[in-house]
Amino acid sequence: MIEQKLSVYNTLTRKKEIFEPIHAPHVGMYVCGPTVYSDAHLGHARHGVTFDLLFRYLQHIGYKVRYVRNITDVGHLENEEGSGEDRIAKKARLEQLEPMEVVQYYSNRYHKVMNDLNTLSPSIEPHASGHIIEQIESIKEILKNGYAYESNGSVYFDVEKYNKDFDYGILSHRNIEEMLNTSRELDGQEEKRSRVDFALWKKAAPEHIMRWPSPWSDGFPGWHLECSTMSIKYLGKEFDIHGGGLDLMFPHHECEIAQNTAMEKHQVVKYWMHNNMITISGQKMARSLGNFITLEQLFAGDHELLEKAYNPMTVRFFILQAHYRSTVDFSNEALLAAEKSLDRLFDAYARIDKVPASPASSVDVKSIRSKCYDALNDDLNSAIVIAHLCDTATTINSANAGNITLSQEDINELKDIFDIFLFGILGIRNDVTSSNNNNEAFGKAMDLLLDIRQKAKDNKDWATSDQIRNELTKAGFDIKDGKDGAEWKLK
Ligand code: ZN
Repeated sequence: MIEQKLSVYNTLTRKKEIFEPIHAPHVGMYVCGPTVYSDAHLGHARHGVTFDLLFRYLQHIGYKVRYVRNITDVGHLENEEGSGEDRIAKKARLEQLEPMEVVQYYSNRYHKVMNDLNTLSPSIEPHASGHIIEQIESIKEILKNGYAYESNGSVYFDVEKYNKDFDYGILSHRNIEEMLNTSRELDGQEEKRSRVDFALWKKAAPEHIMRWPSPWSDGFPGWHLECSTMSIKYLGKEFDIHGGGLDLMFPHHECEIAQNTAMEKHQVVKYWMHNNMITISGQKMARSLGNFITLEQLFAGDHELLEKAYNPMTVRFFILQAHYRSTVDFSNEALLAAEKSLDRLFDAYARIDKVPASPASSVDVKSIRSKCYDALNDDLNSAIVIAHLCDTATTINSANAGNITLSQEDINELKDIFDIFLFGILGIRNDVTSSNNNNEAFGKAMDLLLDIRQKAKDNKDWATSDQIRNELTKAGFDIKDGKDGAEWKLK
């Protein structure tokens, strides 16, 4: 039973639409994954967290989701227009590695940081290089239907022919004349009928190391083709959601739609969803600007633009503080503010159990749950959910200070709200960072140590009490003595 009515913004229709899966309760969801030739950065974090939120929420409200996120390990050339060297092959050449060593190395590192960000693994994670046979079959189908042509061992998609029968530019709202006027002259231009045509198969130059046999030449598939082929293979000829970063809308997703339609003669994807980008202090992130921060650097505080290391949960929370379709500007101030807000939520959560229950509540907390659902149902508005959670934290703190009263039922409700929304759907992990944390085993061990220290102090056994304090400080803990005993925090 699906109890919530979710609306999502469909980039294809440019409207918010009620989400109605083709085969409810099953949902097929495909998200363009990373090209594994370098370390993941903030852009990957936003993309990963956005579609993790969608994945978690769809499952929470009762759908059975098949989430496919690919690994691009062949065919993504240096220039987005489809020229230059293969990104993986170039890295392999520079590092003197096998291309698949590069792929494995950066895939492992991508999984590590996605795990740090507490994103759930996709149901299937197919590699483009593992689906060359299927991609060749796709090309044959597009050729058979008359929307591609072979030229000198390569195969190109015939955009102008396709545009006569369908609409090229339906997603990005660009038209061919405009594209013809703006696209630059490219390598291999002479092979193409029109400069807007894109490669389905490229004949490999003699020095090109990633190559496979095909009916046309020894070569490799075009980048856009893998997503059409693998999404249809695993999710069917019609499926629900295709996601990706806004920077992929053109040409990547536009080309995917053209390929899909050239094969199937109809739209394959029902809802296209795109997350917006991250800027750094108002600037686009780029290696040339020196503001390119990888997630590993961010978590270690290892970059000249960073004032300190940031916990992955702070980064996740920071991303979720904005709606996924708005831009987010990264700065130390913004991350420090996110860290503070999140700490305040953790503190309030830790205090819930300490709130004294009253016979009746003096405030109404019954509407918070439905308000959080309303926000999520409105195109995943995590920013509003966080605002409600911050209000909930204020309620808990007021009850704890004795300014308002809460019944046991309402105390339980507030705890549920944190468990469902903050830890469940928003996917925040309650990491061990202070005595106000809820990792029970760790907390108990610390309480025990501080208890022993207190007893030593009571017995004037200063050597033991100092030893515990000094060793804990050396291990990275901050111990503060207060009137109600000692409190600890990880520095
Ligand atoms: Zn893709």
